[in-house]
Amino acid sequence: MNHIEKLSIKISPAATNGKKNRTDTSKEKTNQDKYCATDFCEKKIGGSSLGLEELSGNSNAGISAVYGDEKSERGVIKSPTSLKAVNASTPDSVTIVTGGAGFLGSHLCTRLIHKGARVIAIDNLSTGFRANVAHLMKSDRFELIEHDIISPIKINQKVNAIYNLACSASPAKYQLDPIHTFRTSIDGAYNMLNLANQKSARILQASTSEVYGDPEISPQRETYRGAVNTYGPRACYDEGKRGAETLFYEYACMNKIETRIARIFNTYGPLMDPLDGRVVSNFVVQALMGQDITIYGTGEQTRSFCYVSDLIDGLIRLMESEDGVASPVNLGNPHEFTVLEVAKMVLAKTCSRSRLRFMDAPKDEPKKRRPDITLALTLLSWQPKISFSDGLDRMIVYFGQKLLDRSGKALL
Ligand code: UDP
Repeated sequence: MNHIEKLSIKISPAATNGKKNRTDTSKEKTNQDKYCATDFCEKKIGGSSLGLEELSGNSNAGISAVYGDEKSERGVIKSPTSLKAVNASTPDSVTIVTGGAGFLGSHLCTRLIHKGARVIAIDNLSTGFRANVAHLMKSDRFELIEHDIISPIKINQKVNAIYNLACSASPAKYQLDPIHTFRTSIDGAYNMLNLANQKSARILQASTSEVYGDPEISPQRETYRGAVNTYGPRACYDEGKRGAETLFYEYACMNKIETRIARIFNTYGPLMDPLDGRVVSNFVVQALMGQDITIYGTGEQTRSFCYVSDLIDGLIRLMESEDGVASPVNLGNPHEFTVLEVAKMVLAKTCSRSRLRFMDAPKDEPKKRRPDITLALTLLSWQPKISFSDGLDRMIVYFGQKLLDRSGKALL
């Protein structure tokens, strides 16, 4: 029996990490005040009493129409239901998911279809796969359009929401064509913002923990401004995503569309491409194949890993939140591991005899990464449910099945 064949009996029983995420309720009011959509736009135009309607020249609409007269029980000024009336989700309106055939995008499309939505996935299939959404093709509520969002796209239907997820997130992949990566973030975000504006749709940007670069503080909270090298191999992704946040900020203020920004931390789960080069997928595949486990640098660098179903839950909650959460919200699992710990867990769970191989650390590698998710917990009542140990078990089963063909031979 090889390691893959042994999987069904070797995987440890599901374990819970037993740790609860801490909530600092005393900070609730401060955070909500900081992150109110209307509040941040008011600051932009000088903190005067000028509201958004005045900015667009609609002098009839008073400030109260913009901010609402109502205060929530936490004293937070609620944003109006919409800054520009957002198309309601109706049976004939669609939700667009760019990057819909990718790892996160395909999970999101599946969840949205299960919720009864009509979904159009837009993907250039550079790192996404038709196979990821093959199970949705038989639904008359799902469509996949092969298109690169660096060019504008015309959609004839009514659109109620756009999730902008298109962009390779793996350093190994996004560095293959860095200019295209950068343009995907910038031109892609601009094209999707224009579409959202045309359609009066709400739009969510998949931003990233990479906006914090190689952070000087840990955990990272949304108010931290990051330490990013503008002139290095990760910049095409990091700076592209930072620029996209800026575009969202400016666009939301000038065009008054409803925006959401999710800063997504490391996420893993089934449908990851085994050749994507990410740490969890690499280690699991290497352990199952009996290959050396490639540790870049000392392995003391840390990451915090969120299971995909938790992340999708957070994205949908953020998109559907009615609190006017226009500014960025961290979504990730705050439980932190060193890369070496991940390697050891994978080796133990797979009973693999793979050896550790230490290699050079990539340039501009973040040394630590851990989200502060107080804001998501406060605003969205969201926190991850799946421990890394449980999620890893599921990944090992998934890759175990994927790596075997019917005759039991390894495919990779
Ligand atoms: N890493 C590693 N070996 C691998 C792949 C990644 O040691 O085979 C390290 C990588 O250097 C980084 C961490 O694992 O410190 C996470 O890498 P990944 O590419 O998954 O995502 P990142 O968080 O760097 O975008």
